Amino acid sequence: MEEELLKRFREQFGEEASQKMAEAIEFASRVHCNQRRDDGTPFVTHPLTVASYLLDMGMDAPTVIAGMLHDTVEDGDNVQIADIEKMFGKEVAFLVDGVTKLTISGKQTYVTKKQEQTENLRKLFLAIAEDVRVVIIKLADRLHNMRTIDVCSPAKQLKKSKETLEVYAPLADRFGMGAIRSELEDLSFKYLMPEEYESIKAQVDVQQKERLELLSSAMEKMKVLLKEADIDGTVSGRPKHLYSSYRKMQRNNCTLHELYDLIAIRIIVNTVTDCYAALGVVHATWKPLPGRFKDYIAMPKPNLYRSLHTTVMDENGIPFEIQIRTKEMHATAEYGIAAHWMYKEGRQSMSELDRKTSWLKQVLEADETAEDSKEFVDNILKDFLGEYVFVLTPQGEIIDLPVGSTPLDFAYRIHTSIGHHCQHARVNGNVVRLDYKLKTNDVVEIITSNAQSGPSRDWLSIVKTQSAKNKIRQWFKHENREENIQRGREMLEESAKRHGQSLAILMKPEYYNEVLKRHNLATVEDLYSSIGFGGISAGQVLHKLIDLRRKEERLDEMQKKLEEGDLTAKKPLHKANPKGIIVHGDPGMAVFFGNCCNPLPGDPIVGYVTRGRGVSIHRADCKNVQSLMQEADRMIEVEWAMDERTNFSATIRVFIEDKPGSLLEVSKVLLNLNVNMTDLKSKSTEDGYAAMEITCTVKNAEQLNIIVSNLKKLKQVMDVFRV
Ligand code: MN
Repeated sequence: MEEELLKRFREQFGEEASQKMAEAIEFASRVHCNQRRDDGTPFVTHPLTVASYLLDMGMDAPTVIAGMLHDTVEDGDNVQIADIEKMFGKEVAFLVDGVTKLTISGKQTYVTKKQEQTENLRKLFLAIAEDVRVVIIKLADRLHNMRTIDVCSPAKQLKKSKETLEVYAPLADRFGMGAIRSELEDLSFKYLMPEEYESIKAQVDVQQKERLELLSSAMEKMKVLLKEADIDGTVSGRPKHLYSSYRKMQRNNCTLHELYDLIAIRIIVNTVTDCYAALGVVHATWKPLPGRFKDYIAMPKPNLYRSLHTTVMDENGIPFEIQIRTKEMHATAEYGIAAHWMYKEGRQSMSELDRKTSWLKQVLEADETAEDSKEFVDNILKDFLGEYVFVLTPQGEIIDLPVGSTPLDFAYRIHTSIGHHCQHARVNGNVVRLDYKLKTNDVVEIITSNAQSGPSRDWLSIVKTQSAKNKIRQWFKHENREENIQRGREMLEESAKRHGQSLAILMKPEYYNEVLKRHNLATVEDLYSSIGFGGISAGQVLHKLIDLRRKEERLDEMQKKLEEGDLTAKKPLHKANPKGIIVHGDPGMAVFFGNCCNPLPGDPIVGYVTRGRGVSIHRADCKNVQSLMQEADRMIEVEWAMDERTNFSATIRVFIEDKPGSLLEVSKVLLNLNVNMTDLKSKSTEDGYAAMEITCTVKNAEQLNIIVSNLKKLKQVMDVFRV
């Protein structure tokens, strides 16, 4: 094992660095020589494995060496950080120190150890902020411990799994290390909720096999299609992870069967352009499901994840998810921040890395004003674990809910009927109000009663989660239609009264029919009923009705004036300069446009006060402006007076295939856009193209941009730009 590791290290980092690594292996073996792991193997296998994980992840030499040494200070008698520094240098010593300080205790109980845990978390975040490599070592350490946890005692399994799920998996996620996160989650899931784990695993195994068979033909087809389209890429099926499937089922309240993306097909290509090209191939072949396309390339997730996601239907109407990404995006998805060491060019952009950890620095800076560690950690948890709180059932199950959730949200999450029959709730042993805001670590117990016939209407304003709201509304919807109609009418009446309106005037068919159409309702009773059970707010309906009435009143008024012959023409908003320019500070000044850059309305512009000819107007990016800037005191602020009636002359240059018919295509585009061409010059170039110069009349820069982009769409056209 040692030799193998050392050999790979040498291949990676060369002879000189591997001397240090050999020393580190030697040193760790000596320090841990009397220690054994829970399964009886020599302890040193642990740091050796951690170091090899780090090597696999493509981390740099100091990180791998620190991985080898990560337990020496904690476990060795009389080994000090100063010793490590003397032998292995400052950088390695710093990393080992960081990892050593990070012993995070889990949330065993909700009362004890809280202070200690708070302190430990604080240390963790401080260390990460100093050097993110510390957390990568810590995660490699935890990954090995979790992979070998089956030999530990049940108590230890539970404790470690809980810690992993609460702290380490979110940590990995936050740094985009998807592969490690999923594995940590699935391993913790297995020990924390063995029954759920086994049941999902059994179902997934069967279904994945079925689905993989179904999808294998789709995958084959995809390979052929990519080849035909000349896209170099690999296609693979990717089973989803158990814990994330479980979470999704809980969140959406659905069965495994209803998850679309139990299996995803992954396409890995070389370039970003190929990603979109492959997407085009996919959508041209299979029908995409509306609303399921996500472009995380244009808009990456905060943890750096980039990919295209879409869900399509196969020939048999079975939906499946497709993920398209480049190799580098894939590495980032799997290893997150660690991929920066893997892709060496990324190493130069440490500033980017800094930017990515800046959220942490901000929190740490904010901490200087925080009163104590408690507040500090609350701040961090909020940022760190997203907008979630993690609470526990009396059995120790972890339930995640959005921040601001109440015991009622918790009850509905456990089961709909527990929600409906919730009578009161205890948090950490004490009875609390139903609108109590849950905090991470709270142990929540729901007391139900059959005497409680159903939810109360006020609950709608108490619960935070949409799913609880829906369940409550559903109950009222079915429970009592008559009562809902009655109540809805009263609510609308009250709302009208508060706004000084009369419902009798507003509830006319010409108004309410609009509202019914808008909400897809058939009758006025349906409308009242929807308001009654809380599906639509009374205020929303009232405002729409008032709006419609006002519109009618205005029309009436105009009609009347017209009849009385009192309708005067609308006056223009601006009294613009004849050229459509407002000169700041001196509106009377004559203006003219520079011939060098032909500015159009919408272009950023500057003015230059000439000697005797007024103000010359240039585009801010005009080459001549640079030299005019020499006389800064002659520059003057100007802006466009938006006046649709002014026309401008603009020239564009088009490179086009020199063939009969090309000119016709160009003129068609201009004709369709209703643009008037005033001049056209065309000159053949040597390589079979023509350079065309078109002068036309436009209203503003936006219109010109539309012309340019429409011309670019022509297949004969090579390039178009503004002169
Ligand atoms: Mn360790």
